Amino acid sequence: MLKLRRNIICQYCASGESVRKHGKSKSGMQRFWCSSCSKTFQNDYIYTSWEHQVKTMMVDFLSQGLSTDEISKKSGWPIRRVNKIILSLELDKG
Ligand SMILES: [Zn+2]
Repeated sequence: MLKLRRNIICQYCASGESVRKHGKSKSGMQRFWCSSCSKTFQNDYIYTSWEHQVKTMMVDFLSQGLSTDEISKKSGWPIRRVNKIILSLELDKG
């Protein structure tokens, strides 16, 4: 089950529940560790890549021919959220 939180989302597996604080980098940037995929990352990535990640995942789901209902079950996102992301993908296409 993925929970969407704006601040701490794993940039590798997009999990929002398995992410823990993991000290700070030399530059003082907060680091995070994801227990789901055992990777560390810095939070400056999250803001720029999250939307892109979600869309990439959604494109992948859609390419598998999944329905919104199936995508919702697979990702743990509410159907309303799934529909919103699909809509934003369509808007991207112009
Ligand atoms: Zn992860």
